[in-house]
Amino acid sequence: MSARRFLLLLWLAVLLPTGFVFAQQPRFKVLAFYSETTEGDHVQFAHDAVVFLADHAAREHFTFDATTRWEDLNDQRLKDYQLVIWLNESPARAEQRAAFERYMQHGGAWLGFHAAAYNDKDTNWPWFVEFLGGAVFYTNSWPPLPAGLRIDDQAHSVTAGLPPEFESPANEWYVWKPSPRLNRQVRVFATFDPSNYPIGFKDILTSGDLPVVWTNTKYKMLYMNMGHGGKIFTSPTQNQLIDNAVNWLGTGAAQNPVPTTAERPTTSPEANGIRVSPNGIVLNGQTGKFYAVNTKKDAVTVLDANGRFLTAVPVGKEPGSIAVNPDTNRIYVANGGSDTVAVIDGAIDRVIANVTVGDLPYTVAVNRAANKIYVSRTFSDLTEVIDGKTNAVQALKAGAGDAVASVSVDHSTYSIGYENPQATIIEGSNDQISRIEAGDHPWAIAFNAVNNKAYIANSGGANVAVIDTKSHATRLVNTGEIPCAVALDSVSGKVFVTNYASKSVTVIEGGNDSVVTNVTVGPRPQAIAIDSRDHRVYVASMHSGTITILDGTKNAVLGTIKTNKAPFAIAVNEQTHKALVLGLDGDITAIDGETLAVSPLSIPDSKE
Ligand code: ZN
Repeated sequence: MSARRFLLLLWLAVLLPTGFVFAQQPRFKVLAFYSETTEGDHVQFAHDAVVFLADHAAREHFTFDATTRWEDLNDQRLKDYQLVIWLNESPARAEQRAAFERYMQHGGAWLGFHAAAYNDKDTNWPWFVEFLGGAVFYTNSWPPLPAGLRIDDQAHSVTAGLPPEFESPANEWYVWKPSPRLNRQVRVFATFDPSNYPIGFKDILTSGDLPVVWTNTKYKMLYMNMGHGGKIFTSPTQNQLIDNAVNWLGTGAAQNPVPTTAERPTTSPEANGIRVSPNGIVLNGQTGKFYAVNTKKDAVTVLDANGRFLTAVPVGKEPGSIAVNPDTNRIYVANGGSDTVAVIDGAIDRVIANVTVGDLPYTVAVNRAANKIYVSRTFSDLTEVIDGKTNAVQALKAGAGDAVASVSVDHSTYSIGYENPQATIIEGSNDQISRIEAGDHPWAIAFNAVNNKAYIANSGGANVAVIDTKSHATRLVNTGEIPCAVALDSVSGKVFVTNYASKSVTVIEGGNDSVVTNVTVGPRPQAIAIDSRDHRVYVASMHSGTITILDGTKNAVLGTIKTNKAPFAIAVNEQTHKALVLGLDGDITAIDGETLAVSPLSIPDSKE
């Protein structure tokens, strides 16, 4: 508080009769709209926001109403409110859109969160795109992760009291093309810190200018990209930003905003993203050969047991994940951009079939007992089942959700999805479906076939579900924050869990499922693989371009080595003790588990 304002308050306090309450009249009125029927994590955010804003209203003396009735977006209802908030959606109906346009053109104020500004070719609302400053949704990071933000303009009342940078809690980050920063009317308040790149487990943002909070100065409006999941209100700094924004818009301080006079860029760094899978590199245990996707070159790199380059096999567009059937020596590659699965004959390392499976195939799992291949698709609840003999494909309504990991063990295939708290199990003999409780936002799964245990890392719950696959009994074992990768030492039975947000690996004793220790590793670890014969644990940090190697017997770090630019997947050959690390550019580094010597491989371009 300024000395002048303090003196003014003191003067008022002296002059006014005792018992006078400043807040007899609400300072302004706010009406928030949200939907209960949209994406679960967006509904969760809306519920949290209603509680947060109601509390803020009580403290700051304004009226706060919230509704799920979008038909209330009409002239009659809106005329009583100084600020309209959209928490998780935008109106779909023409009359609601028209009423909102009139409201804004007549001095109303708007605050939008996250999905409220989502717009694509099907939105058909050009006015709204202009209103947002020209921002059109381009892509997003996945899953939701925390990220560093930079405050662009600390002098403004929206950013008052905020540090120059802060960590924003786990959120799904949207990328816009064009960037609203290119619009001369737009004033950006917070930007995704470029030091976050690359970020993501599945959908990776690799570069680009990414405004997160901005206003189009033509209107009394503010957009904030935050709004996915239950962690948004866990940062006091971010809460302050939201409080400031509501006050700025609600009090009318945003009235007649003057366009910024600062120099505007005429270009901004192009946003880029790539979809990857931790199964981007796999070993055929029978032949000892490695297979790795080269997503940018639409190829699969084949390497020998020592990690030496053999050949590059052209496949479909944007290959993401690979699975092997060692019995038939077939390698299955999900071509995310071609809607196909390429079948490679491992004897000749050539594609012998392309199976059309539908949009955006993602996970691939081979059920050896049934000789069936189970393929999940991004944004789909279906599982495509390929017959390994005939390559005939059939869609199965498995209901696993948008699966992020699928693994076959014995006669069954397990699939987990970020938005589904249950794991889905498909029986290979008859495609019968059952489910097991997993936890909050599952991301990774590993098995111990000896004692029939499944380990599911619940990225939202900071725990691992240990499931008896026979009795379906489940218990939760606490890990660090955002556990996202899990692997088994099949000899010792120990389980190692990578904790992205805690920079650690949790070691679990396989017998009694107790936590042995948490080992500190590099920042943002996100992939793991184990050589069970010599108990080497390899942990990849895509963000820092390093692999941390643990001695799995002593639970201690042996060393951290700089490898590829952005390693995100690892496969190990336990016969040769070679660990192969795959980077975003399709580059591969081999690590010798005995000497820890590192050799980067040069990969020639694939040829037809
Ligand atoms: Zn979202």
